[in-house]
Amino acid sequence: MPGYEPFLLCDFHVHTQWSDGRLTVREVVDLYGRTGRFDVMAITDHILMKRDLLGRAARLATLGRREFSVTEERFEAYLADIDREARRARELYDLLVIPGAEITQNHIRSKKNSHIVALNLKHFISADQPAEEILREIHSQGAFSIACHPHHRTTRRFEIGTCFLWDHRKRLVELVDVWEAANRDDLFSVTSLKHYPYVANSDFHKPKHLYSWKTLLRCEKNWDAIARTLRANVDIALTLYRNGSWAA
Ligand code: ZN
Ligand code: ZN
Repeated sequence: MPGYEPFLLCDFHVHTQWSDGRLTVREVVDLYGRTGRFDVMAITDHILMKRDLLGRAARLATLGRREFSVTEERFEAYLADIDREARRARELYDLLVIPGAEITQNHIRSKKNSHIVALNLKHFISADQPAEEILREIHSQGAFSIACHPHHRTTRRFEIGTCFLWDHRKRLVELVDVWEAANRDDLFSVTSLKHYPYVANSDFHKPKHLYSWKTLLRCEKNWDAIARTLRANVDIALTLYRNGSWAA
């Protein structure tokens, strides 16, 4: 895309109205496409645990009008929506849209929490199983795993930390393809991510999140080349995508 050649400007972590995002898949594709800058984006709505507390509270707050999770029953319709918009995006904007999901574990004890983005996902994966099993299932589908915001620790009561994968990295490292070194405005210390492969994403939920950390990759614009480059973590850079106004 203009301004970034020979790199592809990529965002691998985007939410829509299929979970707790504000825009539809079509709206988010148009938002990214119309910038004339983006090459690759992944739609990664939440799959929550059946007893997810935040999800239940949110459903109550909207009087049950909204689901905050892609459920197993809705999964095929979700993939079909992404597929339809992916075709349109490639034609209109030369934008590659990848189907994915964020398999999300919000336990009361935040030490057990992990958020795992699966890219190039073909079948539903339940969040109601150990993180290790989720990671294995991602790989057995031939999909790709991202450990999301792995350094996110918090002491605030209504926010959740998501450090399980990081805390258990020695055991799980072979199952995680890349670690999210930057998420939205947060930059997790890349040095503390050691020599692990890393990626930067917006964790998009609403339009202002467009302006956030992104990944630049030097490779061909197809999923196989992208997955290979992410895994190798060569020819990759993090960039802060801004609109020129610091007040946004
Ligand atoms: Zn998350
Ligand atoms: Zn997310």
